Amino acid sequence: MAVKNWLQAIGDLCFPPHCLCCATPLPWGGGMDLCGECQGKLRPITAPLCPVCGLMYVKSGGGSHPCTLCCRKKYAFDLARAVFCYNDEIGKLIHSLKFSGKKTGLRTMAVLAGKSLLHDLGCPDIIVPVPLHPKKLASRGFNQSLLLAKVFFPDHQDRISHCLVRNRHTRPQTGLKGGERRRNVVGAFAVLEPGVVQGKKICLVDDVFTTGTTVNECAKTLKKAGAASVEVSTLAMVIN
Ligand SMILES: [Zn+2]
Ligand SMILES: [Zn+2]
Repeated sequence: MAVKNWLQAIGDLCFPPHCLCCATPLPWGGGMDLCGECQGKLRPITAPLCPVCGLMYVKSGGGSHPCTLCCRKKYAFDLARAVFCYNDEIGKLIHSLKFSGKKTGLRTMAVLAGKSLLHDLGCPDIIVPVPLHPKKLASRGFNQSLLLAKVFFPDHQDRISHCLVRNRHTRPQTGLKGGERRRNVVGAFAVLEPGVVQGKKICLVDDVFTTGTTVNECAKTLKKAGAASVEVSTLAMVIN
């Protein structure tokens, strides 16, 4: 057994595993911190969808086709994919990661992401987590997008770059309307060393794609600095 597995087994003994969504006790030694019932409530993103931004057409029985926003070329990124539709269970998983620092959810996310549409994305030259403002990073202690970047690209962790920074503190996007969301993040990001991104294929990583405003602003900033392409991977996408 690898050292990592030993450590996990010891951790499971000291802290018996519970479902991260409903707190049901789980058997020891499982690779997932989600009970069967909660796993069954997850909604993976599947076709039919918008081939550009990855928006899933929940009610349509037809084929995949570009959505209205992508037909009007509204996004600065080239492609986006999410693993799940955002729902209560995914919300709790992300919450456990973001606010209680329960990083045990990461191994669960790794298993889930392994079988997802993230495979549609190209192999990036560099992987860029959506940055937090330094003050937020100091209070939270970690950037959840960086943790997800490691989960999504376990074999390419050396390509993770911190070239994109948030140079302005922004209000949380939650609760803001379209125009307010855009104004809230305009000019919030900057590339520290443009040489790092010039001509590069970039994959941006964030936890949730809500209206795409944040990742779009990041993509604009990266392209302005000379990035050849920007793709986006998120754990969840809000589908209305
Ligand atoms: Zn559960
Ligand atoms: Zn689209």
